[in-house]
Amino acid sequence: MFSKVLIANRGEIALRVLRACKELGIQTVAVHSTADQDAMHVRLADESVCIGPPPSRDSYLNIHQIVAACEITGADAVHPGYGFLSENAKFADILEAHGITFIGPTADHIRIMGDKITAKKTAVALGIPCVPGSDGEVFDVEQALEVAKETGYPVLIKATAGGGGRGMKVARNADELSEALSTARSEALANFGNDAVYMEKYLGQPRHIEIQVLGDGEGNAVHLGERDCSLQRRHQKVWEEANSPSLNEDQRMAIGEICAVAMRKLKYRGAGTIEFLYENGEFYFIEMNTRLQVEHTITEAITGIDLVNEQIRIASGAGLSVTQEDIRFHGHAIECRINAEDPSTFVPSPGTITHYHPPGGLGVRVDSGVYQGYKIPPYYDSLIGKLIVHGRTRVECMMRLRRALDEFVVDGIKTTIPLFRDLLANPDIANGDYDIHWLEKFLAAKADK
Ligand code: ADP
Repeated sequence: MFSKVLIANRGEIALRVLRACKELGIQTVAVHSTADQDAMHVRLADESVCIGPPPSRDSYLNIHQIVAACEITGADAVHPGYGFLSENAKFADILEAHGITFIGPTADHIRIMGDKITAKKTAVALGIPCVPGSDGEVFDVEQALEVAKETGYPVLIKATAGGGGRGMKVARNADELSEALSTARSEALANFGNDAVYMEKYLGQPRHIEIQVLGDGEGNAVHLGERDCSLQRRHQKVWEEANSPSLNEDQRMAIGEICAVAMRKLKYRGAGTIEFLYENGEFYFIEMNTRLQVEHTITEAITGIDLVNEQIRIASGAGLSVTQEDIRFHGHAIECRINAEDPSTFVPSPGTITHYHPPGGLGVRVDSGVYQGYKIPPYYDSLIGKLIVHGRTRVECMMRLRRALDEFVVDGIKTTIPLFRDLLANPDIANGDYDIHWLEKFLAAKADK
């Protein structure tokens, strides 16, 4: 096992990793920008190193500073959390060259899944069902028209280097195709420095369902069921649940097994998430994230398995602590992402938290790095905490969530807590009846009132 782990992240996820390390008896090193010297992850770590000024590119994305911090402190491994350098293959390579373990997959697997066309080709080869579309890159309108003839309209043009829901254009008919193709290309070049695009059939009312996997890098892999992350705003997840209200046990085990088999073939190492759109009983692969996800907590709630502990174990060569037969799903869990934002306009609301009281009690978990008197810096994303609630049934879980939201006090800044109260009061949410467009429509209707 490692003796000292450096956590190359901030906020709630840095704390999450720190807790897993402490439970394993591993020393921790926090890194931080000058804006984060009072942050909780810095206070709770055994050691800390300041790695630069507030902008992420000069601190949390500064590979040289992070490697130097490892050398100074003698850390033998790095956990990247999510975001920042977590899917940066070069970072994984550089750490390896310095004899420091990257707690994550191989740089090759990060590269394969980081390029959407290669990822899709790999998924097909591994037997994972994909959205019908172009076989690789689309170069011109003639080719695009041919693909659309096969798939039918509408179609979606996507940037191969895309991410964060950007770089996508819908074409509803042949007339729209030519313009959509050229706009998608120029936007991809401007945003990602790469104008390569590909095409997919546009699905009208899908749900977003993702499968959590763990692999040991030696050909053993398991799945830990699914998460339903259909409630999204601007392609950002807002509320996640496990299990999905739309899958039964047979469907869950069938898609889970497809993913586990694929990861065994790939000899995947570490935690990963295979994301699908799900419509009319069919799954369509969209991408694989080769890291821990924000919403990993709801999988932990229903399986009782500590995913960060597993990541660290796997990276240290200790293998998986569970077999597929050991993994059982208990009850239902929901995660609400609490952002420091106006709950109606979603304008960020940084500032000082004057009063803070998180909820507690049976089945309630709050992962957050904030505290009373903490000043939220304006430089980073606005997630300040996650409320995770677990119940024996979905109904019990929702009752408990309502109770927990009522207890939650965050004063001095605006948060998205009121949005979750509104969602809980909605019959579609109560029935689990929503797709990936539902939340945008709900917010638009609310804004019109
Ligand atoms: P990114 O890496 O930018 O997040 P994804 O491929 O994961 O890109 O897609 C992001 C979101 O875009 C999905 O969650 C879904 O809402 C929508 N989307 C992607 N592909 C399709 C498709 N073929 N049909 C309909 N919606 C899609």
